Amino acid sequence: MSEDPLVEQLAGKTSLEEVRKIAKECVRCPLSETRTNVVFGEGDPHARIMFVGEAPGEQEDIKGRPFVGRAGRFLDHMLRVAGLERSVVYISNVVKCRPPNNRNPRKTEIEKCNPYLQKQIQLINPRIICILGNVALKTLLGKTPPISELRGKPIEREGIIYFPTFHPAAALYRPAAKTEMEKDMAALRELLEKMGIVA
Ligand code: URA
Repeated sequence: MSEDPLVEQLAGKTSLEEVRKIAKECVRCPLSETRTNVVFGEGDPHARIMFVGEAPGEQEDIKGRPFVGRAGRFLDHMLRVAGLERSVVYISNVVKCRPPNNRNPRKTEIEKCNPYLQKQIQLINPRIICILGNVALKTLLGKTPPISELRGKPIEREGIIYFPTFHPAAALYRPAAKTEMEKDMAALRELLEKMGIVA
């Protein structure tokens, strides 16, 4: 039995829409006091590949959608390099509400929000999760070497292939990281082709 009442509440839910409704009303951490919108995530509910970022930024908070600001346009470019488009993937974040001034989400905020992400993963049941940056890496895989060491290589755990790469915002401002992220996305494309996910 879990001790977190949210985990209990989500246990019986069988659709992302049910989970989204609960998340929309969430007041489990102080980010709920400063958010405009909960940014639950969006995309194909049966996607074979899911992307997990860190937290909504200003534009995401305003629009209630993930990766719709500058980092989002950059992510769209990276998706194309991987042979993907938004309609065939699912995009979410570790925390669903914007941290003030885009600070990093705190450990307690990540813990409070994690049941939503875990339930999304359970319901979508993707074959691959592309991890965008160190916050998502630590949340999904626990203590590991940093993204700079793990990027571009698949890691299989309990039937899911995790594929870490840089966070788009980090790559956006560092030309070297942009080139490396493009290389990662090309490697991801090869993997997706091998798995028959991309033609
Ligand atoms: N950065 C993130 O990690 N997620 C978003 O949705 C937008 C920017």
